[in-house]
Amino acid sequence: MKAENKRVLILGFGISGRAAARLAEHLNMIPVPVDAKNAPEGTHFRESAFAWQEGMSLPPADLAVISPGIRPDSPMAQAARNAGAELIGELEFACRVLPCRIVAITGTNGKTTTTELTTALLQANGIRAQSAGNIGTALSDAALEVLRRHTPDVLVVESSSFQLETVQTFRPSTGALLNLASDHINRHGSMEGYAEAKLRLFCNMEGGNAVLNANLPERYAWQIRARCRTETFSATLPADFMLEHGTIRYHGTSVISTEELQLKGNHNAENIMAALAILKAEAGEKTLFSEATAEALRKFHPDVHRMEFFAEHNGVRFVDDSKATNPHSVNAALKTFGGKKNVILILGGLDKQMDFSSIRDDADKIKCAFLIGECRMKIHDTLHDLFPCTICATLEEAVEQGCRVAEPGDILALSPACASMDMFRDYKERGDRFKEAVLRQIRNS
Ligand code: ADP
Repeated sequence: MKAENKRVLILGFGISGRAAARLAEHLNMIPVPVDAKNAPEGTHFRESAFAWQEGMSLPPADLAVISPGIRPDSPMAQAARNAGAELIGELEFACRVLPCRIVAITGTNGKTTTTELTTALLQANGIRAQSAGNIGTALSDAALEVLRRHTPDVLVVESSSFQLETVQTFRPSTGALLNLASDHINRHGSMEGYAEAKLRLFCNMEGGNAVLNANLPERYAWQIRARCRTETFSATLPADFMLEHGTIRYHGTSVISTEELQLKGNHNAENIMAALAILKAEAGEKTLFSEATAEALRKFHPDVHRMEFFAEHNGVRFVDDSKATNPHSVNAALKTFGGKKNVILILGGLDKQMDFSSIRDDADKIKCAFLIGECRMKIHDTLHDLFPCTICATLEEAVEQGCRVAEPGDILALSPACASMDMFRDYKERGDRFKEAVLRQIRNS
């Protein structure tokens, strides 16, 4: 990309926008931040920032890098197009100048876990790998690091549908689609729109390696198979990587027993199999069976706020699964730790126009639910015929009521099936507030 002195509008000045601006400067481009809220006062850029207001015109520009949080059909994006700019996402901007290999991971759930695990497995087998993207370090910052220090050799990029929506030349050497279920319908308009955004990960991958869940509907899978060498994984269906009687196998040969692992549940077995399939594609089949791989798998532990058992009191166990921000992840939680009608569930939060009916499949595990947040009535209407559902005003009230009905053998879980931003800063704050409320109840009981 011939970049010097090109003006690049940075639409949205959050984590990825700031990183894109830094990369643009490094490339001797002229970044111009545009943001409604975070207009950066006193930045040292050559041109001043724009505090966005609807109806505003933007200066002529060659490129506009749009943040994942801003819709490509928004008035701001339209204003950038009217200014003559080519509109691209931050992943696309970074990958155009990135001189190293990319592995990309997407899916409705398991992206962060699988990204971290893949990086750990590659590193254990002597490959200089680093995680980037949606996981925290924006790809533009990772790209800067590679340009300046020539390291790492492989970036493992957690890729969300919002980021993939605007890629054009993004071309990972290996791409994984972990699973596909209802989420972010408010942004993508429909389940099909959401799936299409995710499938863009593979759109330039002719001759590359694809790693797919064997349950991916054929109408999507064939498009990927037509372009890529494809391997599949599944905890329940026939696949290249399979879970059989608690052992992960590749074409019948044992890789590891899940008893040795700290990651629990079929969903995590699938995350592990996906990471192994990526390892095989990037580093060769032998690495699947190396001691370094087994050791890295044994050492790996799940992050906080993901099915985290953090307390036990009077025979009741407490689980913080605040990162469960869609119904599919709640199904995974119920399948992993639910017994017969022993889970007291706290559900609800920001409405992403999702379909909550999949939770009905695991209703036999649910004793009752306490509902909070913006879409508590919608959840109530979808589920209340199967188990008692009580509407609560706050998370603290839900915890208090949950503790009151809990009996020995029960599990009180925050696994809300929704995003948190209607009541909390993010899922971490929600999880921390849940833990505090539980520990307060325990102290006072
Ligand atoms: P993401 O980055 O896609 O949000 P995480 O690894 O952070 O994924 O996990 C998010 C939530 O989904 C957690 O509640 C976790 O327990 C659950 N989860 C993780 N992997 C899977 C999977 N493969 N299928 C279903 N749920 C999963």
